[in-house]
Amino acid sequence: MISRIDLRGSLPGDLRDVLPRAELDVEAALEKVRPICEEVRHRGAAAVRELTAKFDGVELERARVPAAELDRALTALDPRVRAALEESIRRARLVHRDQRRTDTVTNVVPGGTVTERWVPVGRVGLYVPGGRAVYPSSVVMNVVPAQEAGVPSLAVTSPAQANRAQADFGGLPHPTILAACALLGVDEVYAVGGAQAVAMFAYGTEECPRADMVTGPGNIWVAAAKRLLKGRIGIDSEAGPTEIAILADETADPVHVAADLISQAEHDVIAASVLVTTSTALADAVEKELPGQVAATRHAERVTEALAGRQSGIVLVSDIEDGLEVVDAYAAEHLEIQTADAAAVAARVRNAGAIFVGPYAPVSLGDYMAGSNHVLPTGGCACHSSGLSVQTFLRGIHVVDYTREALAEAAPYVCALADAEDLPAHGAAIRARFDWNIPS
Ligand code: NAD
Repeated sequence: MISRIDLRGSLPGDLRDVLPRAELDVEAALEKVRPICEEVRHRGAAAVRELTAKFDGVELERARVPAAELDRALTALDPRVRAALEESIRRARLVHRDQRRTDTVTNVVPGGTVTERWVPVGRVGLYVPGGRAVYPSSVVMNVVPAQEAGVPSLAVTSPAQANRAQADFGGLPHPTILAACALLGVDEVYAVGGAQAVAMFAYGTEECPRADMVTGPGNIWVAAAKRLLKGRIGIDSEAGPTEIAILADETADPVHVAADLISQAEHDVIAASVLVTTSTALADAVEKELPGQVAATRHAERVTEALAGRQSGIVLVSDIEDGLEVVDAYAAEHLEIQTADAAAVAARVRNAGAIFVGPYAPVSLGDYMAGSNHVLPTGGCACHSSGLSVQTFLRGIHVVDYTREALAEAAPYVCALADAEDLPAHGAAIRARFDWNIPS
């Protein structure tokens, strides 16, 4: 059901060559999304409607969801789900509020200050996936940090659902997504998915003003459109198929480990579930546990394919030191530490989107209710990128304020460096302020 890689003994030079990982050919998808983006660029709202008919099977009268439908979805929302969403929002707000930045003023020299001013992005488009599964939790994870950052204009988009009756929100994003938007006070929502949604935000249409930034996870078409349009529009990261890595020793419970591997495999047939362990006894016990738990789960077929895929596996290592090297090289989106003294081991991890410490912090908690963000870097990008946060939506602007005296003191240095770079006009811009003499 799941393959094994034995790395006991010495670790190979570049671990990334031997670790299991999905091959996601975003480059090939780029060629397919290019014409989609061009259509939206040149023909705006009409192209968005046609592409939605083609890829989602829904004839949109207009892309924007009427406010009354948001209210209707909130009224129809199952009270149990409403309570859970409200609690999820409350916890996410606590964590993201603490991420707010305050301006810093540095007195560089007497009369010379640099202030770093944190300014939110003006308008963001938040993508909430809705192809195969429906992710109201991703509404929370996108919207809360943007709101806490103080973004003045934000819009959510999610694919229109074809297989529902009109009275049951057919042709609109999934009602739980609409209800989550209503709970968060978001009133600008579009029924658009895929690359055309990213292009809609990047270029703007008659219905949707262009945005400065688009964030949120999505499938390969969404990732390709983000890569293609990056620069024209800011992006967070290409959050792709989900991943879990578990670093575990003999103290871990195989029932928990198997359940957690399955919980991520449930997302997608190309989702990755990787166990890195020092214990062959644990590896054997997890392998023994998996078939029974998989058979009992609703999406057994999808889970089986994901676990059997080349992106999943059990990696055996000699000791925790090697295990740490392996998980750092893998740079998982989600990393669980299920070892003795888990907090101390977790403190030594350098690369992961989020770290879940000990037996009572499974990834499922982080998906919905830990307060942490679940939009995280995948595909090894956790070695250079962070998950979605308030910081994603802020820009630090340096405000430079120097008096005449402070500039005079800096002038000889500026002129020396300007000469060294053969940019004499730079020096001249300083000298002009001092009757063309460099003050000594
Ligand atoms: P999606 O909303 O990302 O994509 C659906 C859209 O894809 C449709 O609206 C359609 O317009 C477009 N599309 C479908 N087939 C196409 C084709 N042949 N050509 C062009 N466009 C096409 O929903 P999804 O498909 O369910 O994917 C969601 C992804 O997001 C999954 O891979 C899931 O694992 C991932 N995800 C990641 C995170 C994270 O934080 N990393 C969180 C949630 C979901």
